[in-house]
Amino acid sequence: MEIRCALITGGSRGIGKAICLKLAKLGYKIALNYRSDEAGAIEVVNLIKNNGGEAIAIKGDVSNYEDALNVIEKTKEIYGTIDVLVNNAGITNDKLILRMKEEDFDKVINVNLKGTFNCVKHVVPLMLKNKRGVIINLSSVIGIIGNAGQSNYAASKAGIIGLTKSLAKELGGKGIRVNAIAPGFIKTDMTEALSETVKEKLKDSIPLKRLGDGEDIAEVVSFLCSDGASYITGQVINVDGGMVM
Ligand code: NAD
Repeated sequence: MEIRCALITGGSRGIGKAICLKLAKLGYKIALNYRSDEAGAIEVVNLIKNNGGEAIAIKGDVSNYEDALNVIEKTKEIYGTIDVLVNNAGITNDKLILRMKEEDFDKVINVNLKGTFNCVKHVVPLMLKNKRGVIINLSSVIGIIGNAGQSNYAASKAGIIGLTKSLAKELGGKGIRVNAIAPGFIKTDMTEALSETVKEKLKDSIPLKRLGDGEDIAEVVSFLCSDGASYITGQVINVDGGMVM
C-alpha cells in the first residue's frame, strides 16, 4: 500500500494524541502539530517511532496565519505531501455572557474556527494538485445543541460545521472529502476540570452510560480517512454515546 501522510493539529495530548497513534498504526506518516507542549509532542513521536512508525513534531499556533502556513510547508518539505488534515486543536474559555470579555470570545474563535480555516487554506492547494485529500474537522455536540457558559465555544464549533459543509460542496468535485466529528464528553485534560458529581450526572444522561475515550474518536477518524468512506462528505458525525439524537 502507498504510504500516506496525515497532519494532526494539537496532537500532543488528548483526542489529538489518540488520533496520531491510531493513524500511525494504520501506516500513515504522522506530522504532529503542537503549540507549546514540546515534551508531550516528543513523547507521542517517540511512541510512534518505537512501534516502527514515522512521525515528526512541528511547533506552531494554528490561530496564527503564518504559523499555520509554516506547519504545512514543513510537513510538505519533510514528507513531500499531505493526504489527510485533522483540525483537532481547540480550546475552551467558559464564562456566562455577562462575564465574558471581548478577548475571551475572540481567543476561542481564533483558535477553534480561524485556526481550522488557516490550516485548510494552506493545505487545499496541495490537495487540489494531488486531486485527492481528506479533511476532518473536530466540532462538538455543543456546536449543535449549545450550552450555558459556552457561547464562545459553541459558536466556534457551530462555525466549524458551516465551514465543513461549504468546503465539502466546493471541493467534492476535486476529489477532496471534508467531514466533521462532533464528540460528546470525552475523557481528556479538557474535561478533567469537571467535578466527579458532574461527571456522574453526565454519565447518567448518556444512553451508553459512559464518557468517551480519545480512541472512540480516533476510530471514526480512521474510518473517514479510509476508502470505505469514499462516498461520505459534508457530514457531521456525532460520537457521543447517544447523548444528542
Ligand atoms: P485538549 O485540551 O486535551 O487538547 C487540545 C490540544 O490542542 C492540546 O494539545 C493543545 O495544546 C492544542 N492547542 C490548543 N490551542 C492550540 C493552538 N492555538 N495551536 C496549536 N495547538 C493548539 O483537548 P481535547 O479534549 O483532546 O480536544 C481536542 C478537540 O476535540 C478540540 O477541538 C475540542 O474542542 C474537541 N472536543 C473535545 C471534547 C471533549 O469532551 N474532550 C468534546 C467535544 C469536542
